Amino acid sequence: MNAGEPPADLVRITAEIGADPSLVQGAGGNSSLKVADCLWVKASGCWMADALLRPVFVPLSLSAVGRLWAQGGADNLDSAILSSSQAHHLRPSIETTLHALMPQAAVLHAHALNSVTTSVLADGGDRFHKALRPDLTGAVVDYVRPGPPLAQAIGRILAADTVPDAILLRNHGLVVGADSPDAAAALLREVERRLQFPERDLPAPSPAHVRDHETATYEALPMHGGVVADSFLFDLLTRAALVPDQAVFLGGAICGASAREDLSMAAEKMEGVFGQPPVLVLAAGRGVYGRRDRTAGADGMINALMAIARRIPVNAVVQALSDRDVADLLGWDAEHFRRQLDKERQ
Ligand SMILES: [Zn+2]
Repeated sequence: MNAGEPPADLVRITAEIGADPSLVQGAGGNSSLKVADCLWVKASGCWMADALLRPVFVPLSLSAVGRLWAQGGADNLDSAILSSSQAHHLRPSIETTLHALMPQAAVLHAHALNSVTTSVLADGGDRFHKALRPDLTGAVVDYVRPGPPLAQAIGRILAADTVPDAILLRNHGLVVGADSPDAAAALLREVERRLQFPERDLPAPSPAHVRDHETATYEALPMHGGVVADSFLFDLLTRAALVPDQAVFLGGAICGASAREDLSMAAEKMEGVFGQPPVLVLAAGRGVYGRRDRTAGADGMINALMAIARRIPVNAVVQALSDRDVADLLGWDAEHFRRQLDKERQ
């Protein structure tokens, strides 16, 4: 069966959500629509923002995905892919099974800033449920690795609960489901509105001062300099990664250089531990520095992370990913594929 073209409303809404960096960044986030037995889902590594520019959707047989899932074979969905008028080299999103399990026709998964901020706070679950009452139903999923483990967690919720309109994924983001892509997008924006945090104003060091400490490898990012002067955020960001894409695109916790430490030395020390140079360095007393050869995906993650940091209430209790979680993400084949696509897109 040839699935033809992806539904126009799915394409339009996907591009619209993808164009808003407060909702998704880089290749993050995904969308889907079920039309009879066809599940149109965003392809892995593709950017939602590109939906109107190039093929980003893969059609799959919903019943075939369900069969593979029931047989425990949802790690490889290739046999469920339908032919289409679009490019054939695309692989379905790592969250395809999640999309298939959600009972609603249209499903959006976003790394929306207020949802992500909520998802890293110790009291985030309470905040989420309170924000959704009384007219929306919600569920909260503790952090598990994206892909099949996350789909399993969602499957357990759907088996036990009434169907949630929105699911908060701890240390990750949000999933919403509705009857149509337009309704799902409206729901996503509504949940974001209800969870909204004020962005703290952080006095930034002067751009000239930050640039004074640039190196051949690292350039100043003066717009983000404010987080360095805030000891709560400096500690928070250099201690551990908050979300999976931070591990995938920035390598984990952010490299911190103490006031007495040279930027290059701090970066080398981190490279010695993790086997790859840090993408981002917070240098106390100086500013924030990014590797000059960083990818567009890394840039999107940096901007989002800084925006999330400014939303976290001062001295809030924050839960981060464990070292084990980060290692799991970095050693994982599907994420490796995503990083490769991100490099090729440059
Ligand atoms: Zn995600």
